[in-house]
Amino acid sequence: ERRASLAAASGPGATSDGHKVPLLANIGGPDDVGAAVEAGAEGVGLFRTEFLFLDDSSRAPSAERQTEVYRKVLEAFPHGRVVVRVLDAGADKPLDFLTPADEPNPALGVRGLRTLLDHPEVLRTQLSALAEAAEGLPVYLEVMAPMVADRADARAFADACREVGLRAKFGAMVEIPSAALRARSVLQEVEFLSLGTNDLAQYTFAADRQVGALARLQDPWQPALLDLVALSTEAAVAEGKSCGVCGEAAADPLLACVLTGLGVTSLSMGAAAIPYVRATLAKHTLAQCERAAAAARAAESASEARAAAQAVLSGE
Ligand code: PEP
Ligand code: MG
Repeated sequence: ERRASLAAASGPGATSDGHKVPLLANIGGPDDVGAAVEAGAEGVGLFRTEFLFLDDSSRAPSAERQTEVYRKVLEAFPHGRVVVRVLDAGADKPLDFLTPADEPNPALGVRGLRTLLDHPEVLRTQLSALAEAAEGLPVYLEVMAPMVADRADARAFADACREVGLRAKFGAMVEIPSAALRARSVLQEVEFLSLGTNDLAQYTFAADRQVGALARLQDPWQPALLDLVALSTEAAVAEGKSCGVCGEAAADPLLACVLTGLGVTSLSMGAAAIPYVRATLAKHTLAQCERAAAAARAAESASEARAAAQAVLSGE
């Protein structure tokens, strides 16, 4: 008993029957690394590199500056995974030198990967800086693109990574419903998927994530969102690849169990949530998580889904 609770207080993420679900940290830069290590993160599942660009929104940071910052993060997880997201500019993260000023609907405009494909020199500099930062380190580097809509987007990103000779796994974030609906097709071009549930909820429900009045529709317990998660994990299984979650949904311990039951292969969240997610996951078997996931998907609303999952997980 005591050993079980100690194991749950630290160590790798797993269900009570030993199904491993790596618990990773979302970070914005080297300043967040200490808290991630402290919380026992098994690596970084989302390094939001745009924070480095927000220091001066009139131009991109130099290649040298980028290399220095990336290296600090990579060095902190010598044998762990680090998933770096390339610049996600636009919409809620505008940058003066990149983001068009006159878009009527910035969230539906040129943002994320779309911005980088319009400014290939910015993407090339970032990928080269990452390649240089990883040089000689045993880290397991993964690089992913935000706002991938389809297979063509995934291919354009993978091509850009290959062009600079980056030795890493290339992945696509699933933040747009089209990418979830055709996840198998996206996976023809990249090696992993990472569900960005914040934007995926925004685009699934046509509910701006910055509008608090629409919170009901941005709730990641919405069964429609769980359906898109399931489509993505099923595609990953069919292609023999991985599909993690790096949106806020992963930080809710109960939802983390449901996501595990849906077949998600890793959970990335703000460091503060890691101990809670680890402890909750360690109390349930994979089969219980699967039953909770089925109950949540069978519900008709977010609140019913939460109650149904809670009933399954506490009743056993
Ligand atoms: C997301 O959209 O869920 C995500 C992880 O990315 P961000 O919140 O940075 O847009
Ligand atoms: Mg996003």
